[in-house]
Amino acid sequence: MSLTGTNKKYAVNEIFYSLQGEGYFTGTAAVFLRFSGCNRRCDFCDTNHSAFTLMSTKQIISLLTAYPTRHIVITGGEPMLQVDDNLIDALHSAGFFITVETNGSKRIDCNIDWVTCSPKTAPLEINRIDELKIVYQSQDVESIKDSLPEARHYFLQPCSGINTAETVAYIKSHPWWRLSLQTHKLIDIP
Ligand code: SF4
Repeated sequence: MSLTGTNKKYAVNEIFYSLQGEGYFTGTAAVFLRFSGCNRRCDFCDTNHSAFTLMSTKQIISLLTAYPTRHIVITGGEPMLQVDDNLIDALHSAGFFITVETNGSKRIDCNIDWVTCSPKTAPLEINRIDELKIVYQSQDVESIKDSLPEARHYFLQPCSGINTAETVAYIKSHPWWRLSLQTHKLIDIP
């Protein structure tokens, strides 16, 4: 039996309410929907996304709408392994502005309002990006940028705060980038 509509189930790691700590919407109150599972195994991954609860679309919407914001950040793991038209339509019907944070490994064919791509390892199949956000580790970020669809905004983020001065220096010499800080870690919120 295949489940559709409000009965369709997704593997949800956690739902929580906070401020978006990084990138273009830094400081914006947002409800976070973290999906379980990822198709990459990055050494530096600091997200525990393996645990999950199967939740129906109806359950997810019910939990999300308990919070006062209608700005959602769908993240993971890799959310595009699960995000589909069914979920996006339900979120739009509930009034949400839908942002997704993806590793860029999957195409974006759903009607998502804002796509933040933090590219990890190749192959990268993403076909649209609003915000490119790269953790700066002295890699060739220009080649990464040029290999991807054109974005509206470009951010570099220091790696766990340990190379902030190097990141700032790079941006000063390559000013099409902007600095993104993990402000939620600076102020110790989830
Ligand atoms: S792509 Fe992101 S969530 Fe997946 S393993 Fe890498 S850092 Fe972790």
